[in-house]
Amino acid sequence: MMSESMIKKVFLRFCLLSLLIIVVKTSPLKKSKKINILESCPNPIKGQIVYPDNSKYTQDITCENTRVTTFHPAAIVYASNVEDVQNTVKCAKSSNLTITARSGGHSYEEYSISGDIVLDVTNLNQIDINDNAKTAVIGSGNRLGPIYYNLSQAGFFIPAGSCPSVGIGGHALGGGIGLYARKFGTASDNILSIDIVNANGILITANANQNEELFYALRGGGNNNYGIVTSFTFKLHPTPPKVTSIHFVYDFSKIQTVFDAINKLGLTLTDDMTFSLVMAPSSDTHLELEGVYQGTKKNAQKDLENFISLSKPTSTEFFEESLFSSVVRWGFESVNDTMNPSHHPSKFKAKSFLIKPPGLSPKGIQSIKDFTLNTPKDCPTYAIFDLFGGAINKVAADETAFVHRNILYGIQLYMNLNGDSTTNKKCIDQINNFGTNYQKSFNISSSYQNYIDKELDNWQTRYYGSNFQKLVSIKRKFDPDNFFHFPQSI
Ligand SMILES: Cc1cc2nc3c(=O)[nH]c(=O)nc-3n(C[C@H](O)[C@H](O)[C@H](O)COP(=O)(O)OP(=O)(O)OC[C@H]3O[C@@H](n4cnc5c(N)ncnc54)[C@H](O)[C@@H]3O)c2cc1C
Repeated sequence: MMSESMIKKVFLRFCLLSLLIIVVKTSPLKKSKKINILESCPNPIKGQIVYPDNSKYTQDITCENTRVTTFHPAAIVYASNVEDVQNTVKCAKSSNLTITARSGGHSYEEYSISGDIVLDVTNLNQIDINDNAKTAVIGSGNRLGPIYYNLSQAGFFIPAGSCPSVGIGGHALGGGIGLYARKFGTASDNILSIDIVNANGILITANANQNEELFYALRGGGNNNYGIVTSFTFKLHPTPPKVTSIHFVYDFSKIQTVFDAINKLGLTLTDDMTFSLVMAPSSDTHLELEGVYQGTKKNAQKDLENFISLSKPTSTEFFEESLFSSVVRWGFESVNDTMNPSHHPSKFKAKSFLIKPPGLSPKGIQSIKDFTLNTPKDCPTYAIFDLFGGAINKVAADETAFVHRNILYGIQLYMNLNGDSTTNKKCIDQINNFGTNYQKSFNISSSYQNYIDKELDNWQTRYYGSNFQKLVSIKRKFDPDNFFHFPQSI
């Protein structure tokens, strides 16, 4: 999960073989082909289409991460309904054009704009709640903030990440980890059914009773691999009467004490507690723990007694509040900006390492600490450690495409790129080299697919583990021509 407190304080606002890879088109289309490419589609598209000659174009291809500058789609289609998605897919296929879906535009490598055509689902933003069934049909164009808000108004929630502007489309299809995950699982674990437009432009449903294999693949491996998801049906959880947000500060020089406590107690800690530890050497407080406990302050204090006594924070704060208030707190936005989130584009590069029990050795912790301490001032870097376990680890690794079920904590190493292009390139090389060596030195085999990373070696196994071959065979069945692809697609 990505918490943003340190980012805010320190780095200003961030919001912060394959057998089937047949052809990967990364080069833009020839200019002549670019002109109003979808005008001659047999079935008209009702939604707005933005071409490169439109004054909105540059703004409309600006993603959350602005580091990547290689993608120049020939058209952005703002689908106004499911039919538009179908007609665009059919037209693109018959014209031999590639297409990528975009929901919230937060792909770390901007893969949602890597196709000839970007199919933007922002307008597929219904949230239809069924109080009796405790389910909601959520359009794939919704962002997390409005979902949390709208569900909370009806007394419900779904577990998901911290950043209000992340799109549910990309998020839930790649897993979706947040501060409620140890109690309620990943966002993908809470999906009951998915509507998706396949490579032939046909709308199909995948759930436990129909297209079961596709349902398996979409929950963890669904990002632009099998089709364009138009909506999800989620299982809803009644909002608890109170949750308690926690904020602990630690002495940076005592970091090993904190990790001794996490390594010892992490997996057995009550499922009610989910937290992230943020290491940010360039901030005032270098080491902070932020989390949400499902229950009252009194119970949180009792359940965390052991952890506190072992990890030895220099200060502890407990905030008993509503679940939606905890969303606002850890999203580091106002209530209004949580309900109506906007992008905060910036340049960054990130690495992800998923750590199995019993956790990293002191050398492994020291190595990350040294890296964050020694990166040049133009590329301040921090590390976020997200505690896994609880409900996440209760689902079998082969039950869905999200394979990471035996993890103690995930690390995200996140580098801001504030320099000129030469400095940024040096910084990117530095973090890439560090990542490769770190994996080797500490025998780390898995990474989180939602923190997608172009330079990651052996990504097929790191993202999908033993599920990868099954995902390839499902791809063969549902998209035999590899119509949906991008540089790291299945
Ligand atoms: C600021 C920030 C904070 C984050 N915080 C968290 C966090 O707390 N927890 C966490 O788990 N992750 C977090 N992430 C990672 C985030 O979950 C992934 O980047 C996710 O893929 C973004 O989804 P999106 O829809 O916003 O992005 P997009 O760029 O729109 O899509 C990402 C990928 O999914 C595909 N896709 C999008 N919509 C569809 C669709 N409808 N059908 C099929 N494929 C689709 C795209 O083609 C692309 O490959 C964060 C990322 C950022 C930048």
